[in-house]
Amino acid sequence: MREDELTIGAFARACRLSPKALRLYDELRLLRPRRVDPDTGYRYYAVDQLEQARLVAWLRRLGMPLARIREVCALPPAGAAREIRAYWAGVEADTAARRDLAGFLVGHLLTGPRKDHTMLELRYSARSDRGLVRPANQDTAYAGGRLLAVADGFGPAGARASASAVEALRFLDTDELPAGNVLNVLEDAVRGATEAVRDAADGGEEAGTTLTALLWTGSRLALVHIGDSRAYVLRDGALFRITEDHTMVQSLIDEGRLTPEEAVTHPQRSLLVKALSPGTPPDLRLQDAQPGDRYLVCSDGLTTAVPDARVRDLLASAGGPDDAVRALIEAANGAGGPDNVSCVVADVIDRAA
Ligand code: MN
Repeated sequence: MREDELTIGAFARACRLSPKALRLYDELRLLRPRRVDPDTGYRYYAVDQLEQARLVAWLRRLGMPLARIREVCALPPAGAAREIRAYWAGVEADTAARRDLAGFLVGHLLTGPRKDHTMLELRYSARSDRGLVRPANQDTAYAGGRLLAVADGFGPAGARASASAVEALRFLDTDELPAGNVLNVLEDAVRGATEAVRDAADGGEEAGTTLTALLWTGSRLALVHIGDSRAYVLRDGALFRITEDHTMVQSLIDEGRLTPEEAVTHPQRSLLVKALSPGTPPDLRLQDAQPGDRYLVCSDGLTTAVPDARVRDLLASAGGPDDAVRALIEAANGAGGPDNVSCVVADVIDRAA
């Protein structure tokens, strides 16, 4: 044996992988021994392979599939770091979706059909305003007993794009929702909306839209979201944002390359990385509702002009949803009205109370 070589046993101890795992990784071409003795079949590893073996062991502990580990190991450190970050973001998104499902199942098993919440309903209001600078309003806002939606169109046919996206969801605003899991129903509807937007932009005109919508099931809200419009809930006096912006600056924040404070004034803060289009899946999830919740869906014309703390105060002090949307739009225009502004506000009311 050469002096910079280790037997499989010694190598296994040094990198905390079992000899059995090392043999598997050899077969999968994930980590090949430097040399296999042609007579005995013994595997020998080079000392300088330890670093890679430890990386493999760590990635296994993260739960990364072997095929993906092979890709990561082939990359230079910066690329590998990016891949690991992307993998972990996927794990967290998946876990969040499964947590929602688990919560739903627990509630379902403990309470059966949620009789306790059948008395909940929405009081709502929607309003859209051109603002003070833009020549036209390309936003669309909609509120009904089941559906709350805001779309912010862009491009020459932007107004048509946002209107047709919302129009394509309106069949959901009914007490007779199509059968099936509500998220699947919503996902299908969004596919329809995506096609409607494409049709609205036919003739080669560039157009697209964001879409943030909440579908009321009677006890919870199914959320669909793509772009930089937002949804919030005011609960017990505190404002929580329940959507993530699909913008360039949000990506930079997630990567730690920009602080949220810097993002507020970033020149490209409204540059979208995702909008409603074929092959770009929107965020979909369920949100549990409580009596007393006040939901806000709004376009970026509100959130770029009015800080969250002021949005909270206005939502908390407004009487009903109608007062709230008026006050919010007034605040955006009071701050210069730099963009079209749309607000939908809905209160979860206990009819029995
Ligand atoms: Mn906008």
